[in-house]
Amino acid sequence: MDKLSVRDLDAQGKKVFVRVDYNVPIEDGRVVDDSRVRASIPTIRLLLENGAAIILASHLGRPNGKVIDSFRLRPVAERLSALLRRNVPVTGDALGVGTNDALARLKPGQLLMLENLRFHSAEEKNDPGFAKTLAGYADAYVNDAFGTAHRAHASTVGITEYLPAYAGLLLQREIEMLSRLLENPERPFAAVIGGAKVSGKIAVLENLMERVDTFIVGGGMANTFLVARDMTVGKSLLERDRVEDARRILRLADEKGVRFLLPVDAVVAKEVTRGAEHKMVPSHKIPNSWSVVDVGPQSRQAFEDALAPARTIFWNGPLGVFEVPTFGDGTRGMARYLARRADEGATVVVGGGDSVAAVEQLKLAEKMTHISTGGGASLEFLEGHELPGIAALLDREPEPVPAATRKRAVATSKRA
Ligand code: ADP
Ligand code: MG
Repeated sequence: MDKLSVRDLDAQGKKVFVRVDYNVPIEDGRVVDDSRVRASIPTIRLLLENGAAIILASHLGRPNGKVIDSFRLRPVAERLSALLRRNVPVTGDALGVGTNDALARLKPGQLLMLENLRFHSAEEKNDPGFAKTLAGYADAYVNDAFGTAHRAHASTVGITEYLPAYAGLLLQREIEMLSRLLENPERPFAAVIGGAKVSGKIAVLENLMERVDTFIVGGGMANTFLVARDMTVGKSLLERDRVEDARRILRLADEKGVRFLLPVDAVVAKEVTRGAEHKMVPSHKIPNSWSVVDVGPQSRQAFEDALAPARTIFWNGPLGVFEVPTFGDGTRGMARYLARRADEGATVVVGGGDSVAAVEQLKLAEKMTHISTGGGASLEFLEGHELPGIAALLDREPEPVPAATRKRAVATSKRA
């Protein structure tokens, strides 16, 4: 990684501002999925071991610059306190006298969580004054919030103008795993792309086209590709204004010799709802008043056959409307297949909010090589964009080998 990491930071006696991603689901004042809280712990522990005082900061939900009680971070702090077995107080506000007092009392080995940053509209506006105030709380800055690294906000970008900025361990791992896909994936490299729409994923398809050996497309977005190949898709989700883009991508795959698999059969339903009448049809015979809700068994077999030789596999986007269990066979089957492949040593990276949720429902997250925590951020990264929250961190200076050292090394080896 060409950015400095928290391991490069001498944290002894310093106050360190750590931007985390605690945007977690909360119901009745309790965190219902604490995976993001757990994921932040390695960086926190490292800093505590190195003698730092930690100021944690995150957003939660979309309060849009207003104080909304249901978006307070207290439940998260309670969860974190339980996990760390030490008290993590939360300030009443990210700004103000109370916060300043708490900061003045903060000692090495202690933690303080700032209240939801997005209670201030200045956060999302990347307001320099707000960023400077936040920076004033600390001696160094660590970004461990990959999920917001694609946003230039005060706590992800603005603050780095005023503090030395390092990558947290979680962010570092995301950068390393996703860069590996773009820079030197072990071949063959295959990408499985599903989800609702083509529109959000054209740029990813194009950027990966330069790199993959095989593309597998399923989910709602496959419909637009089927139409591009002159099939009809009944009442299915379709982006008519993207058919031309789909044609261009298919042509590109042809030119580059990239295998491009679409579903050869589908589960179609009368309605896209639980309990709706449904049946299996070949992709070229999708009936007029039905909707594609999942890939069919022949497609699933064809996909697995095409993936069999792959040494690296990236998966984003469910292959069907998996929220309805009857329409989730394709998605669940892919999750199980990829878990098996990862177990056998292939590199399997899963990214995207819904695909990750599907993998987690099946309790297969641990099996995968890497589960990307950032939905939008991982896609933007794979589109080939430099994410502002990453670009803002300190660069690692390339380590030059001085000529004198080189000569001495040679001389020594001769003598030996
Ligand atoms: P991710 O979050 O993994 O990137 P997306 O957000 O792109 O995935 O897409 C997820 C959504 O796609 C799910 O809500 C799923 O129901 C929907 N989807 C998958 N297949 C279909 C389909 N055939 N028709 C309509 N929606 C679909
Ligand atoms: Mg999604």
